[in-house]
Amino acid sequence: MAKKVQDALKDLVSLCKRRGFIFPGSEIYDGLANTWDYGPYGIELKRNIKNLWWKKFVSSRPDVLGLDSSILLNPKVWVASGHVGNFSDPLVDCKACRERFRADQLLEEKLGDGAAAGKNFEEIDAMMKENAIECPSCGKSDWTQPRAFNLMFQTEIGVVEGAGNKVYLRPETAQGIFINFKNIMDNVRPKIPFGVGQIGKSFRNEITPGNFIFRTREFEQMELEFFCEPGTEVEWYNYWKEFCMKWLVEELGITENKLRLREHAKEELSHYSNGTSDVEYEFPFGWGELWGIASRTDFDLKQHQEHSRVKQEYYDAVNNKRYVPFVVEPSLGVDRLLLVLLCDAYDVEQLENDERTVMHFHPSVAPVKAAVLPLVKKGKVKEKAEEIFQKLIKRWNVEYDETQSIGKRYRRQDELGTPFCITVDFDTVGEGESDASKLGFVTVRERDSMKQELVAIENLEAYLAEKIGY
Ligand code: ATP
Repeated sequence: MAKKVQDALKDLVSLCKRRGFIFPGSEIYDGLANTWDYGPYGIELKRNIKNLWWKKFVSSRPDVLGLDSSILLNPKVWVASGHVGNFSDPLVDCKACRERFRADQLLEEKLGDGAAAGKNFEEIDAMMKENAIECPSCGKSDWTQPRAFNLMFQTEIGVVEGAGNKVYLRPETAQGIFINFKNIMDNVRPKIPFGVGQIGKSFRNEITPGNFIFRTREFEQMELEFFCEPGTEVEWYNYWKEFCMKWLVEELGITENKLRLREHAKEELSHYSNGTSDVEYEFPFGWGELWGIASRTDFDLKQHQEHSRVKQEYYDAVNNKRYVPFVVEPSLGVDRLLLVLLCDAYDVEQLENDERTVMHFHPSVAPVKAAVLPLVKKGKVKEKAEEIFQKLIKRWNVEYDETQSIGKRYRRQDELGTPFCITVDFDTVGEGESDASKLGFVTVRERDSMKQELVAIENLEAYLAEKIGY
């Protein structure tokens, strides 16, 4: 399994490094396994993803507010949320080669999604034996008993080591929203239904990180907690499932038949959830979760109410009633979505007597929106190209490139996924034996079709804005 996955992602990982999207972490010190740094193009892609999510799910919606809570929270938060007691995976060691794995994942790989859901450690142990689960590293089937491994990273606050000031790095951003519910209610006074959205880093000491940036120990999440009146949660749960899927397909341009919604079976649901779905994507290594959408009832707010002894209620003035709201949570990983966009965009095309690698990013997410390419690097052509570049860069991330042949410059932009290349030539500026009808026009080459179109300079910004969408 591990080797096959490596092969499937190898070309993409190498393009990501070669083109400055994603670098292996701490590389000059021989690296740190499963850590990754976003390079100049990766960070543009990431920022575009976060900005688009924020706009769609928070700032353009009158019923959603934003928040930025701390990574370090009072440890009581994690007791109340259940993370101290339950946020653990069943860890098994292969006795032959000593590699460690998640028993639930090994079982699911062999027996299908949800195979280990709701099973206790004894049952998992029995299933490992009954199904003769083999070690993915050495092929033997000789396992230790499963034991609980808590995924939260611990650290200490303050100068005195070991003084008992243990804190955790948050394993999700959601609890920061729940513990601010009362602050938001008392001070901002939104009417139900309303949501609170947040983007931020989360940390999980994953047993088996891997598949490039699919599963890492440090990652970013974009989470929305949507509070609604009990009894309306199914309606909102369905609403958000559809809303999320539509955004992925219609606005981010992700291939529709590589996405599916997988509704969790009853046995798979957490005890507090009355509906959970995963949006899954068909990665080169198989289907994997992209987005978890869960109807979480009033579990989280009630837990905090009980543990903090501070009421977590909403007062409905119209009907004169008080209640603890229910919540529907769409929870998405930034890096996970970025990997989906990379996998979905990556293509090696056979041309007549050549081959090109191209990233088919939707213009809205593309890290570079356009490249301005003067045909020669001097005189009026260069001046005009620079003038166009200076104008466009005020609005978008655009590049100026006058090195190498035009063909090579196109190929480089294709690998970066730049949707538009703008060439400025003698006709544009009326130099030499130029075609007078093309004076004041540039040639815009569209990345996917490679078709070229003449666009008047004065219309160029509006032309690009229409395609990019902002
Ligand atoms: P799993 O069971 O695969 O460990 P999960 O179902 O516990 O994951 P959630 O808690 O639902 O994951 O997390 C919500 C979202 O956060 C996921 O859909 C994914 O996009 C992202 N995410 C979770 N864990 C990681 C990770 N280790 N690395 C990158 N993204 C992650």
